[in-house]
Amino acid sequence: MSLPYEEPLVPRAPGDRVIPEPPRRGEPGGEPCGICGGQATEALWRDDHFTLHPAVQGSLPGTVWLASAEHYDSFADMPDAATADFGRVAAKVERAILSLGGVGRVHLYRWGDGGAHFHVWFIPRPEGMLEARGMMLPLWEDALPNVTDEELAAAAQRVADAMAAAG
Ligand SMILES: [Zn+2]
Repeated sequence: MSLPYEEPLVPRAPGDRVIPEPPRRGEPGGEPCGICGGQATEALWRDDHFTLHPAVQGSLPGTVWLASAEHYDSFADMPDAATADFGRVAAKVERAILSLGGVGRVHLYRWGDGGAHFHVWFIPRPEGMLEARGMMLPLWEDALPNVTDEELAAAAQRVADAMAAAG
């Protein structure tokens, strides 16, 4: 794997720690939660615990994100029924993205640093794109030219359709 930038890059020291950390979206004092506020992209698939959404302003069609229906922060405060459902749903999402074809691996990221409402990213690594293995995929996703939001939404709809067809 390799960075999507010419090297050598110059290492730099981390900044000073910011404690307490600033509020995230959806936390008291922070920006409103876009998911609860209805500003997120429309859900293309849902069950009792989760909704599936297309990415916007991205470079890799097939990228989707899964959010909890309720306002949980993370796995740590999610009821057992939702965490158990997460495993089943994540498998459905992965199988559906793989069914698009041309996908080497499906990466799954739960960052949690931006918004307080639980959400997980599923990003397809293009088949054969070995330089984007591991932690390099999000960097390549950022550096590659964006496709249109319509293309991202169409691919996400194919993912949702495959999930629905799988029952
Ligand atoms: Zn929320």
